[in-house]
Amino acid sequence: MSVLDLARAEIRALVPYSSARMEATGGALLLNANESAWAPFGDAGMDCHRYPDPQPAALVERLATLYAVRPAQVLVGRGSDEAIDLLVRAFCRAGEDAILVQPPTFGMYAVCARVQNARVIEVPLAADFALDADALLAAVTPAVKLVFVCAPNNPTGAGISLEAVERLAQRLAGRALLVVDEAYVEFADGGSAASLLDRYEHLAVLRTLSKAWALAGARLGCLLAQPEVVALLRRILPPYPLPRPCVAAALEALSPAGQVAARERIGVVRVERARMAAALGAMAGVRAVLPSQANFLAVRFEDAGAAYRRLFEAGIVVRDVRRYPGLADALRITVGTPRENDRVLAVLGGGL
Ligand SMILES: *Cc1c(COP(=O)(O)O)cnc(C)c1O
Repeated sequence: MSVLDLARAEIRALVPYSSARMEATGGALLLNANESAWAPFGDAGMDCHRYPDPQPAALVERLATLYAVRPAQVLVGRGSDEAIDLLVRAFCRAGEDAILVQPPTFGMYAVCARVQNARVIEVPLAADFALDADALLAAVTPAVKLVFVCAPNNPTGAGISLEAVERLAQRLAGRALLVVDEAYVEFADGGSAASLLDRYEHLAVLRTLSKAWALAGARLGCLLAQPEVVALLRRILPPYPLPRPCVAAALEALSPAGQVAARERIGVVRVERARMAAALGAMAGVRAVLPSQANFLAVRFEDAGAAYRRLFEAGIVVRDVRRYPGLADALRITVGTPRENDRVLAVLGGGL
């Protein structure tokens, strides 16, 4: 069985839109795409009058090197959010198929599924928010095409070991595509599931430049998977998804100097995460700080509403995650600069 057997037959049979830039590359005089012959005012050499490369080779290659995969295993889109949407649309037949998620977790998996009219099967995480592989596998019916695992998990911050991901991949073989969302993996102790791609054809890994790479505003993320899965999703990816200025910003951020800067900032976040966890954990009014492998902390309060308001009145906005199962007393606080974190501690330390 091929992993493509899990995908929608219509998508596998679809003849994709063929854009001008796909049909002919190269050439000195481009009169095939109805673009303006002139660069826009203030273009600064970006060539924004030209449609961008659908999958810019330089960016794909740099990402492939960064993630230690082959270029054919990389699909770049507008944030990993776009990859989630493409996966659901390619694999789930409306009104028939399902995805499986483990709440409390990132909300976009369920939203994308509902837009596609795919069912959302929810199997709660274990009481300590660890992956519950047995419960998860027991819920995998033939209708389940995609299993989403968020590692480290948002909004709890809990990491999942690579061994646990691999055991799950082994047990899902031939049944569903395992999608491991690694939006925060750069902040974690363990490695990436991308290292398992060549062993499990039904594995996909989501990575993003929005968090550790500080490019949330450029909207760039990728799906790492088998070349066949990448090719399948390219069929339904819009023709020119990646704006030239965003690609240019990403190439700068991923340059050797940019990588040094990013690694430095990741180090700061990890140190600050530990400092914040210790300081918050010792505070009156704080019940617990959940262990985090990400760039945020989920914090349980005696009165989370009061803590939220107190921070808000001081001009500090954190995420109220009380609507998530198991987190009815919690706020999610992103790790900021050391000075920003000091402000959080000062405001909350003033008494809850
Ligand atoms: C932030 C986040 C994303 C979204 O990333 P984009 O690349 O900005 O779309 C994906 N998954 C999780 C778990 C996130 O927290």
